[in-house]
Amino acid sequence: MTVPLPTEGTRWRCTLCGNLTRFNVIRSSRVVEFVHLDLAGEPRVEEREVLSESVESVTCRWCGAVDQVELVDRPGAEAEAAAQAAAGDKPGV
Ligand SMILES: [Zn+2]
Repeated sequence: MTVPLPTEGTRWRCTLCGNLTRFNVIRSSRVVEFVHLDLAGEPRVEEREVLSESVESVTCRWCGAVDQVELVDRPGAEAEAAAQAAAGDKPGV
């Protein structure tokens, strides 16, 4: 089962308990890191570029349901979309 990914206008919601805010995400990613070591040999990642990533599984922190998430609109997302549509609908532009 694939996990739907949130977008700018949507967020996850647990379909079992309604949790909107806390999830454990298992994500696999391929990254390039700029590792900068100080003179003592302590490494620090100063830049990270994500080449690819995918969410493998999402677990609800409240009820423990695995991959039981759906996408719902973020608060204000509808108003923003309406504002953008209105801005694009200016007559004579
Ligand atoms: Zn839940």
